Amino acid sequence: TQEALARGRRAYELDRKHVFHSWQAQGPFDPMTITRTAGSRVWDGEGRELLDLSCQLVNTNIGHQHPAVVKAIQDQAADICTIAPQHVNDARSEAARLIAELAPEGLDRVFFTNGGADANEHAIRMARLHTGRQKVLSAYRSYHGGTQLAVNVTGDPRRFPNDSPGEGVVHFMPAYTYRSHFGSETEAEETTRALRHLEDMITLEGPANIAAVILETVPGTAGIYGPPPGYLAGVRELTRKHGIMYIADEVMAGFGRTGAWFAVDHWDVAPDLLTFAKGVNSGYVPLGGVVISEPVYETFVDRQYPGGLTYSGHPLACAAAVATITAMREEGMIENAARLGREVIGPRLEAMKAAHPSVGDVRGLGCFWAIELVKDRETREPLAPYGGSSDAMNAVLGAIRAGGVLPFANFNRIHVVPPLNIADADLHTGLDVIDRALNEADAHVG
Ligand code: PLP
Repeated sequence: TQEALARGRRAYELDRKHVFHSWQAQGPFDPMTITRTAGSRVWDGEGRELLDLSCQLVNTNIGHQHPAVVKAIQDQAADICTIAPQHVNDARSEAARLIAELAPEGLDRVFFTNGGADANEHAIRMARLHTGRQKVLSAYRSYHGGTQLAVNVTGDPRRFPNDSPGEGVVHFMPAYTYRSHFGSETEAEETTRALRHLEDMITLEGPANIAAVILETVPGTAGIYGPPPGYLAGVRELTRKHGIMYIADEVMAGFGRTGAWFAVDHWDVAPDLLTFAKGVNSGYVPLGGVVISEPVYETFVDRQYPGGLTYSGHPLACAAAVATITAMREEGMIENAARLGREVIGPRLEAMKAAHPSVGDVRGLGCFWAIELVKDRETREPLAPYGGSSDAMNAVLGAIRAGGVLPFANFNRIHVVPPLNIADADLHTGLDVIDRALNEADAHVG
């Protein structure tokens, strides 16, 4: 309506005057206004409908404004809006029960945080106190959050201006077959070589000094490059051998995104600590947390845990989590995500790769896919440099938006990360738009 558009224009003016935005040079930033959201769609400041294939920051796994979750938040608000973390609250207890039930066996205790970064901060703190060691090993080409320690374990250019050597973080090369650091030609080679490298890193850094290895099960923003077979089992074995805590960061990959409740389920590994956020309640109210294995829990049975947050296990967020998990179960969203990956997204991206010389690689599972664009398939030179953008990438993204689709993009990649309950017809429409937009990239090949 005209009134909604006028509200949107005023919101934009006030935003530019008073809102300081994440990760931006504030001056040139020209944010998009969103005036309405529903299911797989959002509407912009001009009232234009866009298919949301980004799930915002890959968090609205159940789509926008799911009625059961909206109602659960309203009901919880009418009952108890907030209560301090030291008190028992039924929404929190039930959310913890459900999360423990879904998590790998042996991970039964939940520490709630406000999001993913603080979940990783606390998982590392627990690992350090449990082992009595300080160092943390984490992967290059990763993202773990924007707070001080989380951004330092991150392996992405956003760390550079925040680098602080005092954090005790050492980076290693993860397994990434398409851009193998080890010159691997096959997945099996990549697994063997990446594990040998990690073992060398552990030896050279001193196993007795290493508290934790933190790893995204399927690295998200850094490229949705799933681990080759055997890699995670190898990480599990190496960390166990040396008494190092294995922290699985499932902030983006968890809660159905990959077509399983947790991505570790695909590779049948159980970490010592697992972190989550985003999909746990689709971000309707901020929530994250750490699921804790029994040995780590036992460290804090007689010893005080030195950490906490005013909003840990916030009732509104936990009620939203209970309703989200329930809706995902009742509506078969996990199975649907797996089916969409297998039957729709996978085959369609393979077809795009066959048709477009700019597509170097397509990969993913469930509703978690990346299209990696290159200038040259032989050299695999990316269409935009690491940490940067390019005219070619901007042209592709412009064409996707002009086609009515909101994409998620990073450097030379377009990520296809729709809601797990998107209608097949909508998904096909969105993929048609991306397919056509890739012509823009093809023009820059060679
Ligand atoms: N870990 C991963 C894998 C993520 O993708 C993100 C966010 O994108 C985070 C951690 C940080 O979560 P938050 O932004 O909720 O702090």
